[in-house]
Amino acid sequence: MATVNSNYIWHPFTQMKTAQPPLHVVKAKNCTLYTDDGKEYIDAIASWWVNIHGHCNEYIANAIAEQARTLEHVIFAGFTHTPAIELSKKLINILPAHFAKVFFSDDGSTSVEVALKMAIQYWYNKGLKNKTTIIAFENAYHGDTFGSMSVAERNEFNAAFKPFLFDVKRLPLPNENNSNSIKQQLYAWAAEEHIAAFIFEPLVQGAAGMLMYEAKYLDALIAIAREKNILCIADEVMTGFGRTGKNFAINYLKNEPDIICLSKGITGGFMPLGVTVCTQQIFDAFYDDDTTKTFFHGHSYTANPLACAAANASTELLIAEKCQQQIQWITNSHRIFADTIRSHPFVKEVRQQGTILAVELSTSESSSYFNNIQITAYQYYLSKGIFLRPLGNIVYIMPPYCIKEEELNSVYTAIKDSLFYLSK
Ligand SMILES: *Cc1c(COP(=O)(O)O)cnc(C)c1O
Repeated sequence: MATVNSNYIWHPFTQMKTAQPPLHVVKAKNCTLYTDDGKEYIDAIASWWVNIHGHCNEYIANAIAEQARTLEHVIFAGFTHTPAIELSKKLINILPAHFAKVFFSDDGSTSVEVALKMAIQYWYNKGLKNKTTIIAFENAYHGDTFGSMSVAERNEFNAAFKPFLFDVKRLPLPNENNSNSIKQQLYAWAAEEHIAAFIFEPLVQGAAGMLMYEAKYLDALIAIAREKNILCIADEVMTGFGRTGKNFAINYLKNEPDIICLSKGITGGFMPLGVTVCTQQIFDAFYDDDTTKTFFHGHSYTANPLACAAANASTELLIAEKCQQQIQWITNSHRIFADTIRSHPFVKEVRQQGTILAVELSTSESSSYFNNIQITAYQYYLSKGIFLRPLGNIVYIMPPYCIKEEELNSVYTAIKDSLFYLSK
């Protein structure tokens, strides 16, 4: 079938003039993508970090099909439905104990918008109308809508919109050397500024190039934030649902955030869905006879029953023994593979957190999304039947948890071989 794709479609994150024509996927099963030219690719990045149980998983597909014949959608103001009730209960059960209320939206960016609006209006409803400043990390990525772009790092991706993005205070990612000075900075801002919230990607900054940091440093910052009445927002859009080796990255923390944003893996990659989960304390600041204290936010497809049915099925699969074992097995496999390439001269650093493995290549250009090695590496992996999409010079694996040993080994082999091919 001839592809007339470019006649009608504008692709995301794609320079349409110079990009190669997109691969035309006709079907997918488990970890394999099948294209119209008869080729197969192992999906080693879970289709942009969303697919956790493999493509066309029967259990999730059946749950959606059944739901589609029962109730496909209904307005979520004034109405409710079983898939949303069940999902909220499931999420509250697997999240840390103090999370109490689930607010639905459509994707990662909207889950972040909701979190920011919730945090700012929380203080507004309490009469603290100036308490509006947000703290975020350098190199953060929180989505592509205006609020989420504002809290994300300023860079080439959002340069055109700079005048419209609100100012935020920025902390460097903590490490052994800077953690004390960052704590001092946070104390200083807490004293002088009207800080509403601190938003962070716990343990792994995905889009920044799988930058990782230790739980203990984040724990210390959350402790200060709590002491100083700053709400903490964990953006677990990427890290949620097992990616980091535990169900949520915040499970590695002692101190709990007030709000968590979830999307990507939530439906196993079947349907778009975002949720923002908050504590009872936050909910209570909106719970009032005064209608102006209402949280005036919602989307047409809020809590879409098909998406909720997919998320219910996906969550059941996630917490089952089989999936938990796969997550541990991938984590161990990554660790063993990492040791075999760590000292290669073309490897600058290997980073791992659970099922996420990142290999930073040592190139003459600086580390960035626009590093030229990206295109060469991308094509090289495709030629080997592996779909990897490096972030500049950072090659990473983030597989569906159902990946088989031989498939994971093919991904490792492709990366290992690429170290020789790409360094030439
Ligand atoms: C992908 C991502 C988002 C944005 O999610 P979308 O569904 O693409 O809007 C937000 N935060 C983090 C940490 C992400 O990785």
